[in-house]
Amino acid sequence: MLSTLRHAAIAAILASTALTSPAPAAEPSVSAPTSARFGAWGFDLSGRDLAVAPGADFYRYANGAYVKALVIPPDRSRYGSFDALSELSTERVRSVLESAAANRSATGEEAMIGAFYRAFMDEARVEALDAKPLATDLAAIEAVKDRTALASLMGEANSAYFGAVFGVGIGNDFKAPDRYAIYLAQGGLGLPDRDYYLKPSFAPQKAKYQAYVAQSLEAIGWPDPQGAAKAIVDFETAIAEASWSRVEQRDPVKSYNPMTVTELQALAPGFPWAAYLAAADLGSPAKIVVAEKSAFPKIAALYAATPLGTLKAWEAFNVVDNASPYLAKRFDDASFDFHSKTLSGQPEQKPRWKRAAAALDGDVGEAVGRIYVARYFPPESKAKMEALIGDLRTALAARIERVDWMSPATRAAALQKLSMLTVKVGYPSKWRDYSALTVSQDDLYGDVERANAFDWARQVKRLDGPVDRSEWGMTPQTVNAYYNPLNNEIVFPAAILQPPFFDPAADPAVNYGAIGAVIGHEMTHGFDDQGRQFDGKGALADWWAPEDAAKFQARTKRLGAQYSAFEPVPGAHLNGDLTMGENIADLGGLLVALDAYHVSLKGRPGPVLDGLTGDQRFFLGAAQVSRAAAREDDQRRRLVSDPHSPPHYRTNGPDRNIDAWYEAFGVKPGDAMYLPPDQRVHIW
Ligand SMILES: [Zn+2]
Repeated sequence: MLSTLRHAAIAAILASTALTSPAPAAEPSVSAPTSARFGAWGFDLSGRDLAVAPGADFYRYANGAYVKALVIPPDRSRYGSFDALSELSTERVRSVLESAAANRSATGEEAMIGAFYRAFMDEARVEALDAKPLATDLAAIEAVKDRTALASLMGEANSAYFGAVFGVGIGNDFKAPDRYAIYLAQGGLGLPDRDYYLKPSFAPQKAKYQAYVAQSLEAIGWPDPQGAAKAIVDFETAIAEASWSRVEQRDPVKSYNPMTVTELQALAPGFPWAAYLAAADLGSPAKIVVAEKSAFPKIAALYAATPLGTLKAWEAFNVVDNASPYLAKRFDDASFDFHSKTLSGQPEQKPRWKRAAAALDGDVGEAVGRIYVARYFPPESKAKMEALIGDLRTALAARIERVDWMSPATRAAALQKLSMLTVKVGYPSKWRDYSALTVSQDDLYGDVERANAFDWARQVKRLDGPVDRSEWGMTPQTVNAYYNPLNNEIVFPAAILQPPFFDPAADPAVNYGAIGAVIGHEMTHGFDDQGRQFDGKGALADWWAPEDAAKFQARTKRLGAQYSAFEPVPGAHLNGDLTMGENIADLGGLLVALDAYHVSLKGRPGPVLDGLTGDQRFFLGAAQVSRAAAREDDQRRRLVSDPHSPPHYRTNGPDRNIDAWYEAFGVKPGDAMYLPPDQRVHIW
């Protein structure tokens, strides 16, 4: 999609901090619950599979009947707790958009999102325009006479439909987080990961990709679409070989290579950097930060050695691929068929209004979010959430104080970092101003392009100023949460503060297991294998005594080995290194939330409900938020590209390392999930 290159350079760091990665329906209810949404006290007892013992497979024990009965909606590649809530949020966004679109006397942002929505929903006009909106961009590609001119088009990738073999983004400087820096990153791949080009197990997808490239070129009358498609896929395969793996990209120290443009030109001489940066409106910056340093000269050399005709065909395909969701049905269907059906197994395209909601969320999301919050976010949720976060912060501090492997100096630095953590709940304190953005109900293609150009201009304009720490990286209507190491902040959008994550009417044990563990998860990201390399101000700085770092790494290595042994689909194992940060956060989040639950009981045992103790309900509440089913193609895609473990392992993976889980359910040697105490990994 058009915005995928935005922040590309820092995406490798930030991607893993979100609670979940978005998937490519429950009937909504907007009334405030008078009783718990799930079951009598917040947990769906009927979703359990009591034929499975807790120690045999806790996820199935907690969720087995639900998962067995679950039919993934045809317009989804995965469905579960996150997705059900996300459907509810999308329904609400639909009502925001439809009322804005219907209000012809609306002014300001409401008029803007109304026009954008009408433009998206006007299928007849989109159909009548067919390929016409592409004409100017394709003519610009056809007019290219040399690689410098093509690099200029690539420089516009953040503000137009063009693709680029290197991504450029603006974000906090890793070493000086009060200032912005320009980041450059490897790019150029149309498939979800380099593995799709290089591993025989993905050969069928690669073949279908080549067919899709040919089909896209044929659709615009590009000469020799078959031959061009083969050359394009060969070119990308060579880029894939040169590219860093996602595991390598997770290393913030190796990814921070500041240099001048002159030094960059010497490092990677095959690519016309000055033209590229000028076209991105970055002029001649004094400093840029290169992410995958050793890959740059190789990709630049490929750019220099590949025939200009192939590069131009590659760029034409990128424009068609990026624009297809906003073009006539023949383009949109081809894009869906490859990206969603082939890569994720999704049988049916989403209804148009859902795609409109997603597009507006990505392009003008805060304008939508402002109305969403006024309609659907009760102010008392924010106050309750802030109190809960305070309890979790106290619990994490107590845990850091008593871990047995840390020296006093590192411990003091960790506590200081935690004390500097910033918390954001619900929605931004300062909304983005879209008043300079022009939207036309007759020009969907142009609207999306202008929205992207508008946002890139906003980022470029503030480059020399101080970092605006009030900004949000997700919209309020997003069902997710994140930790941003560069701001040392945890952020919880309004839409996640609902059942089954957060239910004011539910049993506290369930809430601590659900939203409590989510809060603990995000806090733990500040102390996972990546987050621990940043200090309280958000700077990449090593505050660890070497022997403490070595002890931390020994523990995480054992955790990684546990996860790498899991085989969710035949022949495809979990990658314990790719998912390391998330697994550490899943484990730490549960422990901190359980501590906070115990503190809330003030030393008394929790009540027994339906024969279940407080601790048992805590673990069930945690398992309930993970329940989901996914199509096999989607699972295989996520195993190589998603830093999160699959739902099953986000429950069983941490639980078997938690002593209190063994006690709560009487899990004994001989049970499938049992680990002897000396094999359980304790980090935080
Ligand atoms: Zn996370």
